[in-house]
Amino acid sequence: MPVAAVRAQTRQKDLCDADGIRAIQMDSEEMHVKSYRKVLYFNTPTRRAYINITPQVQQCIDESGIKDGLVLVNAMNITASVFVNDDEPGLHHDFEVWLEKLAPEKPYSQYEHNGFEDNADAHLKRQIMGREVVAAITNGKLDFGTWEQIFYGEFDGKREKRVLVKIIGE
Ligand code: ZN
Repeated sequence: MPVAAVRAQTRQKDLCDADGIRAIQMDSEEMHVKSYRKVLYFNTPTRRAYINITPQVQQCIDESGIKDGLVLVNAMNITASVFVNDDEPGLHHDFEVWLEKLAPEKPYSQYEHNGFEDNADAHLKRQIMGREVVAAITNGKLDFGTWEQIFYGEFDGKREKRVLVKIIGE
């Protein structure tokens, strides 16, 4: 390819990139995008627990003043989960039984990770139950199906753990 053509192509690409950035900036200005951040703290009396945190997340949305956007809720510890499911005690018991079959807590010696720690099972349980939830916000409310609720899943409790709530929208 002639040098001039390469230059022209490069210039065109640069312009495209610049236009792309400008377009995003213009959208942000027109949309008045707001951002909100809060950390929730948990210290469960038991090693494992399921806590419905939907009211706390909705409270964050209310505080943010954001009516239309997205909320990210993620565990900040690698032995805890945030997930969406039904607020039904039978199901929570089923989770407990199922996770214990997949990654039994004991004997601790069955895991390479255990030695200094005893929480290998908690890392594995968290991995399958997930790190985070992203949910839509419409008219200032969580845009959920009938039975959807947000849970904090604790797999190695009895100490302080953190959950991040980040909200972006207008
Ligand atoms: Zn560990």
